[in-house]
Amino acid sequence: MVITDLDLNEVEAFLLELGEPRYRARQLLDWVYKKGTDDFKAMSNLHVELQRNLEGRGWRVSPLTVAGTREARDGTKKYLFRLPDGLYVEAVYIPEEKRKTVCFSTQVGCAVGCLFCATGQQGFKRNLTAGEIVDQVRKIGQDRQTRISHVVAMGQGEPLANYDGTLKAIRLLNADYGLKMAARHITLSTSGIVPAIYRLAGEELQINLALSLHATDDQLRSRLIPLNRTYPLAEVMKACRDYADQTKRRVTLEYIMIEGLNDGEADLGRLVKLTKGWLCHVNLIPYNPVPTVPFRPSPPRVRQRFLRTLEAHKVAVSIRQERGAEVEAACGQLRQQLKL
Ligand code: SF4
Repeated sequence: MVITDLDLNEVEAFLLELGEPRYRARQLLDWVYKKGTDDFKAMSNLHVELQRNLEGRGWRVSPLTVAGTREARDGTKKYLFRLPDGLYVEAVYIPEEKRKTVCFSTQVGCAVGCLFCATGQQGFKRNLTAGEIVDQVRKIGQDRQTRISHVVAMGQGEPLANYDGTLKAIRLLNADYGLKMAARHITLSTSGIVPAIYRLAGEELQINLALSLHATDDQLRSRLIPLNRTYPLAEVMKACRDYADQTKRRVTLEYIMIEGLNDGEADLGRLVKLTKGWLCHVNLIPYNPVPTVPFRPSPPRVRQRFLRTLEAHKVAVSIRQERGAEVEAACGQLRQQLKL
């Protein structure tokens, strides 16, 4: 049994079975999340018999082992984690002056197969458990000896294709007995699984939704993100607007700018139409080269043109400052090949 896989009710139930009082569960989780301890023997307010009992039954706090790290000059640090079955996932720590962000993975590999993404080119292996997700954040906080203020589900995998695991992990990140992270500091990024977006809107979680938009017509979007053939653009945009209406949270539309592909005048015109007049924010992202894909980033002057035109139409817009590209820790570059 892995503690970080369990919510408070589940920990309580197991400890009650061992004859422990209910309050023990919060004591135990306090050590796990607030004090960042993995060792039952260090949990000094649990009596020795219980510490031994937990170990004897094969309970563990963490399912992850740090298998390697790589740090960029700007402080961005990529972590390679080994899972109990010998597979690997990556997460990235991004320090900024006012926020410490972790970008975490939700699956090993990914079935969506986006053309520009290193992970998507590897195929899908399996979903991560809630513990394997939340522990990426916990372990990075331990390593950096800092409180992680923000998280984004934007690493390997499509979070909404692992709906239950991702949502349970988000509740553990948010819970007062967990990492106590504000919901508005949690962002889930999806390629656009429409029924799951509607389901998420009904969770009353107040987390941020980000959509990988990347194209403004179905033909190009289906080429870049094959899932668009199942859930075309009009349906995806309707679901995002509904999310904004229901949650009153601004939806971020991610737009990777690729030279000659999605950065023309017609693309810009359609982007304005899709984004004008509702609660969204366009994030223009310089394309990060992946060795096996023959794309190049749009020139800075084209990015500026998109920025200024959207601003002129009163659309909230920014250009993302890419971090960590030198360690292949930027968007679309995670792929379990951390070279040390
Ligand atoms: S961008 Fe995201 S959804 Fe697309 S293949 Fe990569 S990991 Fe999967």
